[in-house]
Amino acid sequence: MMPPTLPPSKPPLDAYTRARLAMVERLRKAGIRDERVLTAMSEIPRHLFITEALRSRAYDDHALPIACDQTISQPLIVAKETELLELTADDRVLEIGAGSGYQTAVLAKIARRVFAIERIAQLARESAATLSSMKLFNATIKCFDGTIGWSEFAPYRGILVAAGSPEIPQPLMNQLDIGGHLVVPVGTEKEQQLMRVTRTKTGFKTEDHGRCQFVKLIGKYAWEK
Ligand code: SAH
Repeated sequence: MMPPTLPPSKPPLDAYTRARLAMVERLRKAGIRDERVLTAMSEIPRHLFITEALRSRAYDDHALPIACDQTISQPLIVAKETELLELTADDRVLEIGAGSGYQTAVLAKIARRVFAIERIAQLARESAATLSSMKLFNATIKCFDGTIGWSEFAPYRGILVAAGSPEIPQPLMNQLDIGGHLVVPVGTEKEQQLMRVTRTKTGFKTEDHGRCQFVKLIGKYAWEK
């Protein structure tokens, strides 16, 4: 007699995947609505952007230390900044402050092409290696002062700044496409407001999207050191 056929069993989810899906549910509850952002964040293995000793906390909602005294941004702020860009699959995006490369990876899942800048050479090198190990070949990370933008590939549909600035860097506004958004934390060293600048046909529109805390944006059009 033929043995009864069992339905194909799904492999059990590993602990990181379960933690990641729980993180995405919390983002939904916290008000993130853009399904492209939620899908990207349910796919990118955030724990691989973090040193092994901290991996068990990779999916909690807080920033964590990375090399060179910098931080990987907390999941909610990554989701919020990305959502505010209102990206589509056709868009070209610029990111300032690639750090671990996590935010870069989320953008690379959503947009067609991502250009990311990181001022610390070690972080630029390591984040580029992490992205290529994940086969995210539509993102390029280079090391220089991102406050001057990256004019070669401008204009951008979205520009995301992942560090806090005393003011909105003018070159970034100039490199925005009409209808495009620039999201940038602006304020003091301790605390900033998340600002969104939209380029219109005739000028710029600015909105405040609430309080946030980032490490310093250091460069010609931001903090001096
Ligand atoms: N999105 C990153 C955030 C890293 S923290 C992540 O989630 O991992 C912010 C990063 O901005 C730091 O790595 C810091 O070195 C970088 N940074 C600060 N000023 C910069 C500048 N002018 N140009 C490029 N990167 C800058």
